[in-house]
Amino acid sequence: MTQPKKLFPEAINSHVAARYWYCAEECLLRAVEGIKHKYTKAMAGGTRGHTWLEQRPKSKSYKNVYARFEEMAKNSSNIWFDFIGLAARRQFQGTWVIAHPDDYDVLWKERQIRFIENKTITNPDWKRYLGPVAQQQLLISAWVFEPFINEINYDSAPNHYLYWWDRNDMWPLGYDEIPYNTRDVEKFLNDLFLMFRGQRDIIPPSEFKCRTCKTYKDHCGFWK
Ligand code: SF4
Repeated sequence: MTQPKKLFPEAINSHVAARYWYCAEECLLRAVEGIKHKYTKAMAGGTRGHTWLEQRPKSKSYKNVYARFEEMAKNSSNIWFDFIGLAARRQFQGTWVIAHPDDYDVLWKERQIRFIENKTITNPDWKRYLGPVAQQQLLISAWVFEPFINEINYDSAPNHYLYWWDRNDMWPLGYDEIPYNTRDVEKFLNDLFLMFRGQRDIIPPSEFKCRTCKTYKDHCGFWK
């Protein structure tokens, strides 16, 4: 098992934290050792798909909420817009947890905001392995943004949406409704941080993941 060599992370991105559900060792290597994932052709296809999705028409209530986020970003270093889009951070046990939600819907009658994660895949079988990762990323986004949406008198929707798209032609493959609960996200982060501190065992992933692992195998504690 890999022992963390660097200091406990000052910040962690939601997509890195969520990789715990694919491989806990990879999550630790990325968050604690700072080893970056290689940019692949498949990831480039996903980025093009996301750019296309961002161009959808926006409702009036969506634009109003967006304007409130812009206003907040002028006065706070905890919410901002960068080359990816809207982002925010929230502290958990002294570490900044950062989220870049793909999108959101405004349920104006209910005064709720529903966060959205778009995932592109080439084969529907991948939902089995990427589903838990995407769900966790989505829930962390909802948790990070909770104080900001409360500040503008909105609440988190009870369910957030995970949309699946075919990476080749951006054909919709369906969606999952993911129930949100603040306590569950905080329990996940607590368990994750215990693992980073070496106080919780790392569970090895399924064998096929190691066979296809390119970036991390050389650094991985299971293969030393
Ligand atoms: S080799 Fe296996 S255990 Fe190690 S990081 Fe890759 S997938 Fe995870």
